[in-house]
Amino acid sequence: MSVLIFIDQADGHVKKASYEVLSYGAKVAEQLGTSAEGVVLGAVQGDLSALGKYGVKKIHHVASDALNHFDAQVFTNVIAQVAQAAGSKVIIFSNNVDGKAIAPRLAARLKAGLVPGAVGLPETANGFTVKKNVFSGKAFANVTINSDIKIISLNPNSYQVVEGTGTAEVAPFSATVAAPKVKIKAVNKASGEVPLSEAEVVVSGGRGLKGPDNWGLIENLAHVLGAATACSRPVADEHWRPHHEHVGQTGLTIAPNLYIAVGISGAIQHLAGVNRSKVIVVINKDPEAPFFKAADYGIVGDAFDVLPKITEAVKKL
Ligand code: FAD
Repeated sequence: MSVLIFIDQADGHVKKASYEVLSYGAKVAEQLGTSAEGVVLGAVQGDLSALGKYGVKKIHHVASDALNHFDAQVFTNVIAQVAQAAGSKVIIFSNNVDGKAIAPRLAARLKAGLVPGAVGLPETANGFTVKKNVFSGKAFANVTINSDIKIISLNPNSYQVVEGTGTAEVAPFSATVAAPKVKIKAVNKASGEVPLSEAEVVVSGGRGLKGPDNWGLIENLAHVLGAATACSRPVADEHWRPHHEHVGQTGLTIAPNLYIAVGISGAIQHLAGVNRSKVIVVINKDPEAPFFKAADYGIVGDAFDVLPKITEAVKKL
């Protein structure tokens, strides 16, 4: 019996969220008196054995061209094969976009209980109970998994990355990789863009920006800060910004070090996606805007006056 951790990667680079789940999974394995193993799918740059410093003892590497692009069904199938071969009883994902797509499918495949969006280590002294957010982060629930195989997806930024020493054994794993049902024809990415889910700083705009033509104000500040851009749901619904930038209950959940919200009211559904940010700065012309209650710093002012001033000030730093 072992704990298996899905090490998520994109374009051959291990994602930031993976270091967190490695540290978390290593601790869960320690609690259970077993070892932590990782699984990596697709080609990855660098030496995978170095991931041993996050506490993982062995890494199953399935290198196949068909795994270089994410496909939830194909990935689920391969991870199920690895889990069965390794005899994994606890399987851990990040509750990021990929983890949200794989974990429920894998739970159905392995007849495993799943706790999505865990925020702490499991209680293992008497059963297996995991704490998770409910009601858009307004409350917690402690969920006990009774099935033989248990799956947890950890909310990003819920667990401190622990970096020690040590190397992991890298074991090539020969899996049956089904042909994806979806064919990727092209991947288009704006050059220099910071991926939103990985970003340390995010500048986000809401309906207060009045229209897509004003988004240069958000982009200029993001550019000088090296930040990613995000938006509220109505902004994406009205096609002012692409849907992959929408954060909140029905969009991405992010947890950057700094989240700057401009012209966003702070509805509970929006806060659900950003309230784990370390520092929140709100710029809104309405001093009664609910977002100020969740803010570490607030600026009451018109975004059209404030944003150019902040951008110029940051440029001078
Ligand atoms: P508004 O509520 O219109 O707020 C605009 C703000 O801009 C106001 O506070 C105003 O004072 C300010 N403003 C106006 N002009 C200026 C100016 N010149 N300078 C500075 N400030 C200015 N929303 C999400 O964002 N993400 C979600 O995932 C999401 N999921 C939802 C799921 C459900 C089931 C439902 C029912 C709703 C969901 N919503 C979500 C919508 C949410 O309830 C809000 O309607 C939405 O977040 C409001 O977006 P907003 O703050 O951009 O716009």
